[in-house]
Amino acid sequence: MTEVSNNIFKIDVPLPGNPLCSTNAYIIRDSERSLIIDTGFDLPVTAETIHKAVLALGLSLKNVDFVITHMHPDHVGGVHALADAECRVFAHCRPDGTNASEVAGFNEQLRLAEMVYKNAEKPVRGKNGEAGLRTAFPPYITSWGQPKQGYSQLQEGDILTAGGYHFRCIETPGHDVSEICLFDEGSGIFISGDHVLKNISPNIIDINFDDGNLNRYLQSLKKVRDLPVSLVLPAHGELFIDLKSRCDDLSAHHAERLENVLSLVESGCEMLYEITSGCAWNTGGKLWQELEPGMKFFAYGETIAHLSYLLDAGVITKIEKEAVPGFMRKFSLQT
Ligand SMILES: [Zn+2]
Ligand SMILES: [Zn+2]
Repeated sequence: MTEVSNNIFKIDVPLPGNPLCSTNAYIIRDSERSLIIDTGFDLPVTAETIHKAVLALGLSLKNVDFVITHMHPDHVGGVHALADAECRVFAHCRPDGTNASEVAGFNEQLRLAEMVYKNAEKPVRGKNGEAGLRTAFPPYITSWGQPKQGYSQLQEGDILTAGGYHFRCIETPGHDVSEICLFDEGSGIFISGDHVLKNISPNIIDINFDDGNLNRYLQSLKKVRDLPVSLVLPAHGELFIDLKSRCDDLSAHHAERLENVLSLVESGCEMLYEITSGCAWNTGGKLWQELEPGMKFFAYGETIAHLSYLLDAGVITKIEKEAVPGFMRKFSLQT
């Protein structure tokens, strides 16, 4: 645990077996009610790590409230095991924990994702192509316990006060529809969740082809880019200072990926599999065929987000043939 600013402590909550390695949870210490921002997976190690940090600061879990930056399992998973009945759990989601604009739960999303994945891999069905997507994700990734008291809804402009800070809630949908950031004007501290990370480009996924998440994400980058920030506290990886240039880097990354996808379509790639496997991914030297099903799923989801952005912009068009089942779709240049 490290004190990153007066009364703000960072805890590295381990994410076993996950390439992200850990989630940064933050404790904002207060003599009345402290705040804990984010948790980790729904695993015993999450509760153990956070509880230990709370005790080390001389606090009690009875006197803390929680803020969940978004409804992903590495952030919300552990909160139900930590939140005492009298604690409040703030999040930008429905009281039942689903995302505000989500029609179906995570399992339904996963079902759709499985169809995308299986159909996309059909042309190359081999060892990896046969593997079911669901087996790629352990159970704590697809479902997690809910706090008995439900969630207290956070909305744009709400203020959370603790440790001498007044954090304003900023809705930043894109990486997840429920994503929020927190900004304290007085100190310039910006809690960025997964919206802006220093070393990783947050995964932007469209499963339905019409979610519009990339457009949302790019708008949400613009929304926070010019805030007078002195320190960014992200949910993964290192802390950083220059929010503006990081937002610009992430926008440029997506512009480059859009170019990449478009040039593949222009060169005659039509199938989702061809386009996704043809994009430049940071695979650590692995060939597409060697990638884990989970990694491929994120790559497909991200490619669909870029394709649907180009579809919305009218740059490409979608071809569906009766003989092509499910989510196997074709793309070509609009003439
Ligand atoms: Zn996330
Ligand atoms: Zn995360």
